[in-house]
Amino acid sequence: MEQSLTKDISIVIPLFNESASLTELYQKIIEVITPLNVEYEIIFVDDGSTDDSFQVLKKIYAQNPLKIKIIQFRKNYGKSAALSVGFKMALGKIIITMDADLQDDPYEIPNFLNAIKEGYDLVSGWKYKRYDPISKTIPSKFFNYVTSITTGIEIHDFNCGFKAYKKEVTDQISVYGELHRYLPVLAYWHGYKVGEIKIKHFARKFGYSKFGIDRFLHGFFDLLTVLFLVRYTKRPLHFFGIWGFILVTIGVAINGYLGYLRLVYGSIMGKIPLLSFAVLVIIVGIQFISLGLLGEMIANITQPKDEYSIKEIVGDKIS
Ligand code: UDP
Ligand code: MG
Repeated sequence: MEQSLTKDISIVIPLFNESASLTELYQKIIEVITPLNVEYEIIFVDDGSTDDSFQVLKKIYAQNPLKIKIIQFRKNYGKSAALSVGFKMALGKIIITMDADLQDDPYEIPNFLNAIKEGYDLVSGWKYKRYDPISKTIPSKFFNYVTSITTGIEIHDFNCGFKAYKKEVTDQISVYGELHRYLPVLAYWHGYKVGEIKIKHFARKFGYSKFGIDRFLHGFFDLLTVLFLVRYTKRPLHFFGIWGFILVTIGVAINGYLGYLRLVYGSIMGKIPLLSFAVLVIIVGIQFISLGLLGEMIANITQPKDEYSIKEIVGDKIS
């Protein structure tokens, strides 16, 4: 069979120490995707596994070398890194990501494809009945709620590993650190249409979860990062400047009041702590403004590629 440079579908699977699940996962995917009659590829990104995941993957590869790609990291860089490299390698017009631990059901793949056909650019899975320990599900509900109200995106399960993307989305957004949790936010911010479908979810059969309770702390820092990136990357002074301005104004007002006391009553005895406070907020305020200006300089120097998302260009025949 000939190999084309584009595919209809790429399935990208990040994995870290999941050797026990991989064969079954592969078989299920093949069962689902073969009847669809599409050109597909499956990209496994082995995120520095220390078990025999890579050996298992090589056996799977030998069964179907025209459809499978394996990328092995030298060390464990994290899920965002694995996704980022998977996205770069993917040739599909539609890219589906899923976890390797069999918690996601490959039988949902056609439903994701249908949602993309309906016009969504990114479709996120919603594990509406979730089989994870309560220590994970409750904080996760809270986290999703906060993300939804702060970003204005009406989906329920931002961090779900099972998602489908049009190629232009994965080409545009860059995933680093642990920002994979916020891919829908980054896509939405660029004007892509983000949707959601309910999916079946299973308890983990093999191995253990790679994300502990610290995910929520990291998650909130990442939410701050994303909110800041989305709103203020191009105009950091608008963020820092306003706070700096407020602080300086408070400090100057207090000092004005103290100056008035000094002039009228001849003394500011007993008001020294207030004076210190006023001086402090002025200094902090000036620092905020300076930070904002530094931010502006950085934003000016670093011009990321593809920063504006162009949906279509009409009229390229002009000569
Ligand atoms: N994963 C990864 N690199 C990591 C941690 C996790 O590629 O450093 C993969 C993992 O193998 C799985 C997916 O990311 O395929 C989701 O991880 P996990 O199942 O541990 O998360 P949970 O389901 O508990 O949210
Ligand atoms: Mg899992």
